[in-house]
Amino acid sequence: MQRTIAVVGGGAAGVILSAHLVRAAASHGPHRQVRVLLIDPAETPGRGLPYRTTDPRHTLNAVVARLSAFDDDPEHLLRWCASAGVPAEPGTFLQRADFGRYLTELLGSVPVPDGSAVEHVRGTVVDVVDGPSGWAGAGVSGTGGGGASVTLTLADGGTLRADAAVLALGTPPPVRLPEYEPWGERYVADPWSPDLDERAAGARRVLVVGTGLTTLDVVAHLHPLLPDATFTAVSRGGALPAAHAADPLPPAVEVELDRAFSPAGTLDTAVDVVRRRVAAERAAGRDWRAVIDAVRPQVNPTWSRLTADEQAAFQRVHARSWENVRHRMSHAMRTHVDRLLADGVLTVSTVEAVFGGVDAPGRDTGRDTSAFDLVVGATGLPALTSPGWNPLVDALVARGVLRPHRLGTGLDLTPDAALVDAAGVGHPRLRAMGLARRGLEWECTSVPDLRRQAARLAEDLLAEDLPADGLPG
Ligand SMILES: Cc1cc2nc3c(=O)[nH]c(=O)nc-3n(C[C@H](O)[C@H](O)[C@H](O)COP(=O)(O)OP(=O)(O)OC[C@H]3O[C@@H](n4cnc5c(N)ncnc54)[C@H](O)[C@@H]3O)c2cc1C
Repeated sequence: MQRTIAVVGGGAAGVILSAHLVRAAASHGPHRQVRVLLIDPAETPGRGLPYRTTDPRHTLNAVVARLSAFDDDPEHLLRWCASAGVPAEPGTFLQRADFGRYLTELLGSVPVPDGSAVEHVRGTVVDVVDGPSGWAGAGVSGTGGGGASVTLTLADGGTLRADAAVLALGTPPPVRLPEYEPWGERYVADPWSPDLDERAAGARRVLVVGTGLTTLDVVAHLHPLLPDATFTAVSRGGALPAAHAADPLPPAVEVELDRAFSPAGTLDTAVDVVRRRVAAERAAGRDWRAVIDAVRPQVNPTWSRLTADEQAAFQRVHARSWENVRHRMSHAMRTHVDRLLADGVLTVSTVEAVFGGVDAPGRDTGRDTSAFDLVVGATGLPALTSPGWNPLVDALVARGVLRPHRLGTGLDLTPDAALVDAAGVGHPRLRAMGLARRGLEWECTSVPDLRRQAARLAEDLLAEDLPADGLPG
């Protein structure tokens, strides 16, 4: 049996899934083969948004030991570093550009069994419909056998047919904030915009909206280009993320979050367990980060035990502080940031403190546009269903093939990550990875999450009995 799987999006999620699919085919023996159509507009798949950067100051926020593409081969990345001549130890924070190279070379490092293949199709998918009805036009490619299938349309009009498709679309750019529109051309809403350097030229007072890791990337990148500029980073809380310790791999500790639910528990008991344990480790002079690292793999199982109200409460009340300790800057970045703060190059503040009388983004009472000569947006994750960023999402929303998750950011999905349509029906031939899963899971975008999702999807999609449900046409 050969199955054709279309992977829409060739960023980290797409290439990791492709690698897992060929590995899964190999593990099933000669009777199970897979043809992966990895669709992405880039010349070479792998880098996606975060790993395109060439700035050496843009490093990963987790160490080599944690970022292999395979759960069952944790040293895969370390071995790649050795073979690629990238100096690394388990505790190294790689440059993101190097990790991008790892991802672009990942498919070459996985043996592809006879009868299986990964093909990069260069293009943008603009629609997916059920069945072989769209089986026409330029660049058509198809499944080996008959039966149910999906047809994908590319922006150039070509179509592809597959047994199933996985959306691995990544993250929409930050939402434009109306309160900064008066800055006109001096407002750069997307910090990854390729013309950032050009538009920043000559700026002396830079406002960065957001105080997370992206803000630190922006400041680390622009400071050498604008050595005379000062940077003000603002958010509602005005707090920078936590930093890794000098030793980024502290001895592991055990935290049993499920005991908080035994025999019955709530969000509050789970939060309490974590807080108490962090306080205890601190009091004992040990690294509290080990507690966060121990809790992290338990977040999704815990999430699925929470009620809908508790999940909403976590997002509203605790998410910000969890993200602050969970996504940490490297120790080297901390040292750099401390120097910028001490030298007065960087100020971290609240929106209210900077603009006085303005209480929160979105409720603007007027901002002095002369206070800064460049504004860069670096706020949190927008909803995947945001209109206009992705033609495929727009088309699927318009036809009711997908709908947002009730918490807003991700998509409504079945427990197997199949898209749920506007009528509440799940479509097992259309699955999702990455940010789309926010809601079904909490932790869903980092490399360890992607490799876990990929391993499970690869098994599901190559299973004998891929369900035959169709999509609304
Ligand atoms: C700045 C930044 C730094 C990060 N650092 C880390 C880190 O250090 N460690 C970590 O674990 N995680 C990190 N992350 C998390 C990150 O989300 C993942 O590591 C990973 O990049 C997500 O991969 P992805 O494939 O979902 O998205 P992306 O890498 O963005 O890839 C999505 C791809 O899909 C393509 N695409 C979208 N729509 C279509 C379409 N309709 N048709 C065809 N192709 C399409 C895009 O062109 C893109 O190539 C970081 C994220 C960001 C934004």
